[in-house]
Amino acid sequence: MNYKNVTVAGSGVLGYQIAFQTAFHGFNVTVYDINDAVLEKAKAKFDTMCDVFKRDLNATQEQLDVTRQNLSYTSDLAEAVKAADLLIEAVPENPKIKIEFYHKLAKVAPKKTVFVTNSSTLLPSQFAEATGRPTQFLALHFANNIWVHNTAEIMGHATTDPENFKDVVAFAKAIGMLALPLHKEQPGYILNSLLVPLLTAATNLLVNEVADVQTIDKTWIKATGAPVGPFGILDVVGITTAYNINKIAVEKTNDPLKIKTVKYLKEHFIDKNKLGVATGEGFYKY
Ligand code: NAD
Repeated sequence: MNYKNVTVAGSGVLGYQIAFQTAFHGFNVTVYDINDAVLEKAKAKFDTMCDVFKRDLNATQEQLDVTRQNLSYTSDLAEAVKAADLLIEAVPENPKIKIEFYHKLAKVAPKKTVFVTNSSTLLPSQFAEATGRPTQFLALHFANNIWVHNTAEIMGHATTDPENFKDVVAFAKAIGMLALPLHKEQPGYILNSLLVPLLTAATNLLVNEVADVQTIDKTWIKATGAPVGPFGILDVVGITTAYNINKIAVEKTNDPLKIKTVKYLKEHFIDKNKLGVATGEGFYKY
């Protein structure tokens, strides 16, 4: 693996964490997002990340100064990828947005650039054609709060070149991740194959008015010894992601319970900008 320059597309909940983690480990990182106002917000989040890295990883001021120097920002896609060895896509979990993004990216990215998607629930084979370079495309899936929950699931699709797969495994290790290679495409990888059914079951209990948020979380925490319950997890993940996942399910199945869930999340959280830890309030206040 001889990656040096990495571009992160999307500076939301996961994108800014990936960008900071990658810059911290010595790579040149360009952060790309749709406009400069969003990028300004990302820069502010990097100030918080400096404090978090000091607290959780005993990072020194010198390391953090170098990390900041390794980061640059642009809302011009061609500029963002012109030197990229690797592009990490962390745009919203919406197939239309991702496909449009890959079509634009394919037109401006250099031939050498390998693309990886951080998608939680969508398969790389869905986007392989849109990338224009299926052999140089695979998934690299991080978990939220990547500096502590440092799992990286690496998953190719049928025509991913094994050399690119190996390089991405090596890259994941180089930025301090526990690399977790999958042998074949699996919706939800390993983590979400386990997590999504839990969060769905919790939301179903709530929307069906079986029990309230606190009681559901308390049940899970006490009975399993887990430090946090499903709604605490949802606040960390971001309620927008849960909302988008349910919206996709409605489009596919028209399931009445999913329709009810989408309505519930929209009315109680999305419309009120209560999106979880990131906005200071979701199921709980922070
Ligand atoms: P988010 O909504 O917080 O952030 C998305 C970012 O993408 C925003 O900054 C937005 O401005 C930007 N964006 C929107 N359209 C764009 C475009 N056309 N081009 C470039 N940028 C664009 O989302 P997120 O939670 O960071 O999720 C991003 C991806 O990471 C999704 O695929 C999600 O499934 C995945 N993921 C999320 C989590 C999580 O816990 N939130 C965990 C693992 C993976």
